Amino acid sequence: MKAMTPPRFKVERGVPLSGLSTFGIGGPARYLARCRTVSDLRRALDFAQREGLHQNVFVIGKGSNVLFDDRGYDGLVIASELDFCDEISVASTSSNDEEELSLRAGSGYAFNTLGQRLSTAGWGGLEFAAGIPGTVGGAVFMNAGANGFETCEVLACAEYMTSEGELKSLDFREGSCGDSGGSGFAYRTSPFQKMGGDLLAVVSATFSVRSSPGAKARAREYMVRRGQTQPLRDRSAGCVFRNPVGEGMPSAGALIDGAGLKGHSVGTASVSPLHANYLVCRETGAHSARDMRALIEEVRARVREHAGVELTTELKIVPFQAGEDGG
Ligand SMILES: Cc1cc2nc3c(=O)[nH]c(=O)nc-3n(C[C@H](O)[C@H](O)[C@H](O)COP(=O)(O)OP(=O)(O)OC[C@H]3O[C@@H](n4cnc5c(N)ncnc54)[C@H](O)[C@@H]3O)c2cc1C
Repeated sequence: MKAMTPPRFKVERGVPLSGLSTFGIGGPARYLARCRTVSDLRRALDFAQREGLHQNVFVIGKGSNVLFDDRGYDGLVIASELDFCDEISVASTSSNDEEELSLRAGSGYAFNTLGQRLSTAGWGGLEFAAGIPGTVGGAVFMNAGANGFETCEVLACAEYMTSEGELKSLDFREGSCGDSGGSGFAYRTSPFQKMGGDLLAVVSATFSVRSSPGAKARAREYMVRRGQTQPLRDRSAGCVFRNPVGEGMPSAGALIDGAGLKGHSVGTASVSPLHANYLVCRETGAHSARDMRALIEEVRARVREHAGVELTTELKIVPFQAGEDGG
C-alpha cells in the first residue's frame, strides 16, 4: 500500500474567510496558508517576508472566536492544522491511587475532541472542553474555559514559533493559573496575547490530566446544558463579550438581557433570544460584518446607559489591514 503523504504546502489566493469562521462572515483572504507541520509554518513565514507582509499575518484555528471584515483580510491568513495528539506518559501520583496522564497535542487538534476523548477514557480536567468548537491553539491563546474551569489549569507547557521562525516553549508547571499566579494567564487572557507581533503561532500544548471515574458523566452533563442554554444551531462565535470582573457583578449576558436587548437586530445580526451574550448572524452577505460590528457597538452603548458598565469584547475583531481599528 502507498504511504500516506500529507498534502504539499501551498499558498492559496482569494479564499473566502466566511468558510473559515463559525459566524460564516468575511470576504476573501489575499493569501491563505494551511499549515500542517512546523516546516509549513516556516514556509508560510518565509512567504510573508518575501511578500513584505510580515506585519499582516493572522493565525486562526477553527475561526470560532473571530469576526472577519466584509472586505476580507489584506495579508496572509495562516490556518493552523497541526492536528496530532500523542500520549507522553502515564504515572502514579504521590497522593493516592490516582494516575496522571501527560499528552501533547498539535495546535490544530480539535479542543472538543480532546475533551471528549479524555473524559470518555476516564481522565478528568478537560471535561469543560467538550462542546468548545475551537482548536488547542485557540484554547491556549484565549485561555478558553467553561463551567468554572480554564485551559491554563491543565496546561503543563506550550511550544510556539516566534515571528523570526524560532521555536520556543513556556513551562507552566510551577506558576499557578489565574490573576495572581504569575503565569500570565487570567480570565480569557494568556501570555501569548501579550507577545503581540513577536508571536507567530502556538505550535503545540502539553496537558496533564488525572484519572477521574466521573469525567465522562460530567462532560456529558456540560454538553446537555450547552444544548439547552446556547443557540448551537445558529452561526455565532460563542460569547461576544467578556463577563465583567468583580464581586457580585452580573454576567455580560444578564446585563444585555437587563437592557432589554434579547432578540434585538441590526440588519443581519441579532442578539440571541436564548442567550443574550451570543450575537448571531442570521444571513451571511456583503454587509454581515458591518451589521455585527454595529450591533456590538449598540449593545455596548445600551448596557452603558442602562447599567453603567462598559463591556469589552472577548471576540477578536480582525481588521482588513493592520493598523485599522479592529474594535
Ligand atoms: C458555539 C460556541 C460555543 C463556544 N463556547 C465557548 C466556551 O464555552 N468557552 C470559551 O472559552 N469559548 C467558547 N467559544 C469561543 C471559541 O470556541 C474559543 O475562544 C476557542 O478557544 C477559539 O479557538 P479557535 O481555534 O476557533 O480560535 P480562532 O477563533 O481561530 O482564533 C481566536 C484567537 O486565537 C488566536 N489563535 C488561534 N489559534 C492560534 C495559534 N495556533 N497560535 C496563535 N494564535 C492562535 C487567533 O489569532 C485569534 O486571536 C465558543 C464558540 C462557539 C461558536
